[in-house]
Amino acid sequence: METSDELEKIKELENRLDGWETEEDDAGFKSQQTYRRYLEARDWNVEAAEKILKATIDWRRETKPQHVVCTYCHAKPGYHAMRHVGFDRHDRPVLYSNFAQCHTQHNVVEDAIQHMIYLTENATRAMPAHVYQFVWVMDFTGMKVTSCNPRLARAVEQITSNHYPERLGACVCVNHGPLFHAFWKAVKHFIPPTTVRKVHMERHHEKIEVLFSELFPDELKHWLYEEIRLNKLHPLPKQQKEFWTTTHTGHDTRGCKSYVEKYLNNLQLDEHKSKCNTYLPHPNILDDIIEMKKQ
Ligand SMILES: [Zn+2]
Repeated sequence: METSDELEKIKELENRLDGWETEEDDAGFKSQQTYRRYLEARDWNVEAAEKILKATIDWRRETKPQHVVCTYCHAKPGYHAMRHVGFDRHDRPVLYSNFAQCHTQHNVVEDAIQHMIYLTENATRAMPAHVYQFVWVMDFTGMKVTSCNPRLARAVEQITSNHYPERLGACVCVNHGPLFHAFWKAVKHFIPPTTVRKVHMERHHEKIEVLFSELFPDELKHWLYEEIRLNKLHPLPKQQKEFWTTTHTGHDTRGCKSYVEKYLNNLQLDEHKSKCNTYLPHPNILDDIIEMKKQ
């Protein structure tokens, strides 16, 4: 709940943004929640928040992130493995990524940004009214030297800080080794301290269990444990490699049961064609569902 001082600042920011319009199909972007996020990101300094928010509106008019698709995943299934898999205890979307399942270890700025924008825009569409952040579980299994690209990390950080401030609620890192620690040392200095504080890097099994139990409902927690365990296997089982497919039984690599039931089994594809505010899952999960419906 905002204090009266905060509410005043939200109102003031709203007034300053008067006449600064978004595209017609992106009208929902200018909301009380957006003003709040930008103010929070700038320590409630209205002028500073106005500056970055105006820059984001210009960027949104130019880039049209609400329509961005990941052409890399559509062209090569499994190009990126990062996907929405469920919700945490505060109803925040939970995204899971790992290196073992990715088709590529040689990301360039463009592909990583396309995928990240697509996921963030869609995670936002799945947020209930009181939620404005997501949680990211980063599994470092399969990370290679080629995945460590500080230039890429910086480009992604710039987009997220400038155009998606305060979207990240928490980042939970698992299976991180010396390679990641060296990489983290190289990139940490350009990541805002507020973001660094959201990164959890527990190493001990018991501490990870405590953190997972605090953050995730049992169903998602068990799904994550199983997914993380399976992605450590050598060779990687076919169903883990093709995590977007629907044809297997047992552990569903696409996400936990309640997520699959609500968001994948009930995907409204006709709506998706006519509106751009319909929630869409990982590009390959989407393609697989479209393919299945044709049969
Ligand atoms: Zn992708």
